[in-house]
Amino acid sequence: MPNTHAPPHAPADSAIQSLVDQAARTLNIRDDTVAVLRSNYRETSVQIPVRRDDGSMVVAHGHRVQHNGARGPYKGGLRYHPDADLTEVRALASLMTWKTSLLNLPFGGAKGSLQIDPAQFSRRELEALTRRLAISLSHVLGTHRDIPAPDVGTDARTMAWFMDAYSSRRGYSPAVVTGKPIELGGAPGRTAATGRGLAYVLGAFAQREGWDLAGRRIAIQGFGNVGSWVARELHLLGAHIVAVSDAFGGIHSSRGIDVAELLRTTSSGGSVTDTDSLDDRIASGDVLTVDCDILVPAALGGSVTADVAARVQAELVVEGANHPVTPDGDEVLRERGIPVIPDILANGGGVTGSYFEWTQNIQQFTWSEQQFSETLRERMTAAFAQVAEVAETRGVTLREAAYLIALGRVAHTVELRGYV
Ligand code: NAD
Repeated sequence: MPNTHAPPHAPADSAIQSLVDQAARTLNIRDDTVAVLRSNYRETSVQIPVRRDDGSMVVAHGHRVQHNGARGPYKGGLRYHPDADLTEVRALASLMTWKTSLLNLPFGGAKGSLQIDPAQFSRRELEALTRRLAISLSHVLGTHRDIPAPDVGTDARTMAWFMDAYSSRRGYSPAVVTGKPIELGGAPGRTAATGRGLAYVLGAFAQREGWDLAGRRIAIQGFGNVGSWVARELHLLGAHIVAVSDAFGGIHSSRGIDVAELLRTTSSGGSVTDTDSLDDRIASGDVLTVDCDILVPAALGGSVTADVAARVQAELVVEGANHPVTPDGDEVLRERGIPVIPDILANGGGVTGSYFEWTQNIQQFTWSEQQFSETLRERMTAAFAQVAEVAETRGVTLREAAYLIALGRVAHTVELRGYV
């Protein structure tokens, strides 16, 4: 049975929580406001029974955690992964609150999951699971209530099923999810938005520092949606992609990998290690410590530990994934003077693109990809400028500055709305 009345829980991720607490102290935010921000508004857990193709029954578990909605409807991805339990979803939900606030989007933060390994289910079973999940959560979702999006293990096809199931109950509602296929109200440019957004933020950083990105050597961990679009965009700017990796291994070339060939190989389902080029094969993890100028971890959380951070050769780390640098790793990078552009800024292009899709659905209007990308560039560049300004004036890291801005906005709205 749906459980929408769970007691308030503190987001479990202590790393985010300590950043939030630190920002709250710096900003002198009232204790009662902090108490609201430390807990989730609503946690919903549902059972999702499905009949498998062989006639057996599986009961999967789904979750939706809505952290804070003071600034607008809840927004956040829907992840299909066996480890995506309530603890993980709680931490990711609060991260979304800070990300949407930092990007100044009219959204709160949420995250959802279905605890399955999608690779173990047929297409029919996945569709049945998704439809059941959409119906079971429909009472807490909605165009102006909570809007899921694809995440690890889900994609545009999942969002199409989800939207269709929700609409069958509540009437045609394309804006109830983002990341849909273009034909169903998806926005041209949304797929590229996270990688492009990261490239725009990096471009703004480079301009501020007087760097020329042309000729800079980039290493990218992960070559999925985020990593591949980062490679494509930075290659277009004249940077050399010197190392990439995926779950199967990595490749390295000090003169620069042939990005077009790499994209051809991976877009047909191959690994980066399947390219025909003569680049050196390296272990997946070694991409983090190769000789390069800029490191973009865009695969997993927690990959840049203190040990890895001590061996990073890059002058700058840009977080494409969520939480790729651990708190210990962050400390080591800080001591070594290596700046980190934090996840809530660097990969915020995805949720910003989702915002554009949502507004277009509500207006029943479409933008060209060019308009989408130009508006994305403006927003990402403006967010970077604000973060860099606060970092400089307060003498803090880019991550600390990002949390100061994000937390300050949410706290102010919580107080204005009279929650406390
Ligand atoms: P994806 O599933 O498309 O790609 C993940 C990539 O990481 C794949 O190439 C996979 O092979 C690789 N990988 C997995 N394990 C690895 C390992 N041990 N070593 C090296 N590579 C490994 O995922 P994505 O959409 O590109 O997302 C990547 C990260 O960015 C995730 O942390 C996600 O939460 C975050 N993120 C994604 C978006 C988005 O819009 N896609 C937005 C914000 C944040």
